[in-house]
Amino acid sequence: MNLFPEGFASTLLRVLPAGVVLLSDDKIVLAVNDQLRSLVPMHPSPVGRGLEEVMPAPAVCEALSQSVEPGETREINISVGRFELQARVVNLGPGKGLLGVFTDVTEARSVEKARSNFAVSVSHELRTPLTSILGYTDTLLGDEESLSSETVEMLEAIRRNGNRLGSLFSDLLHLFRLESRKGDLPLQHLSVQELAGEVLEEWRGIATERRIDLLMDSPSEIRGWVNPEAFRHILSNLVSNALKYTESEGWVRVRVRAEADATLVEVEDNGRGIEPVYHQRIFERFFRADAGRARSSGGSGLGLSIVKHLCRASQAGLTVHSTPGHGSTFSVRFPLPAAD
Ligand code: ADP
Repeated sequence: MNLFPEGFASTLLRVLPAGVVLLSDDKIVLAVNDQLRSLVPMHPSPVGRGLEEVMPAPAVCEALSQSVEPGETREINISVGRFELQARVVNLGPGKGLLGVFTDVTEARSVEKARSNFAVSVSHELRTPLTSILGYTDTLLGDEESLSSETVEMLEAIRRNGNRLGSLFSDLLHLFRLESRKGDLPLQHLSVQELAGEVLEEWRGIATERRIDLLMDSPSEIRGWVNPEAFRHILSNLVSNALKYTESEGWVRVRVRAEADATLVEVEDNGRGIEPVYHQRIFERFFRADAGRARSSGGSGLGLSIVKHLCRASQAGLTVHSTPGHGSTFSVRFPLPAAD
């Protein structure tokens, strides 16, 4: 039974905003729409002729010659002349031929590229004068004895805020790069408890200064599949937050465990905790559960959004459990590859 009214297929081909070609199993063109004619060079009457004869652009022939299993769809990005195209190729099943759908993504790609170039330039342009401000501040503070205590205080405030701006610029740049990056990060099989121990030691001084017990809870030698740079950044951010939002005399514990199908890394604190309504929102850019207090503690409000992106790119799961007034636990689960 034909579910569609007569003329449905030809109307669909005409109104679709994408270029479409239907090929037989032996690569004879059965149908093609005008949108595809405007995107790729083509013979004036292609129907009934062989693919390579009517569409001479090698990238198009290659896209349509990929081996695709029946029922499967393959996606490939190609450049044809001035166009950037996303080609989707569907195998309709034995004897039913192949469908090629070409979408023009030229504009989207150039907007994406311009956005990322803009972010890099802005961050660079802002950083140069900031380096100079901080340099002069340090020079003035180098001669502290000749300055009044008010002047020293003001210069120290300039330095503190300048450093905050600096870390805001690098966080913004990091986030832009992560957002425009495609695909997953390369993973290595490493000793996770060793990496975690190294990160912990980097925070030891600040923990001691803030009189917070920084503890490690891990059985010896736990290995996992991680990207070491992303792992350090994720853990460092979570430990930094735990120290920031925990009062003096409190504790922060990093726990590493081997599970059946994952390596679990948790950062637990007995700090002020997070209201349940904010548990998802804290991963949004610039969201702070307690804006005034978080800002005064020096955070950019971007840390957890970067953590979220890095976890996603490492194929890791990220969750938070927290009880206001009792503390928070951030858990990151790095999956192990499935056994053959
Ligand atoms: P910030 O730079 O403000 O710390 P983040 O993105 O790292 O930005 O965190 C977002 C918000 O999540 C923080 O402002 C804070 O309200 C909350 N938060 C994050 N970690 C903790 C924690 N361990 N304990 C309590 N609140 C936290």
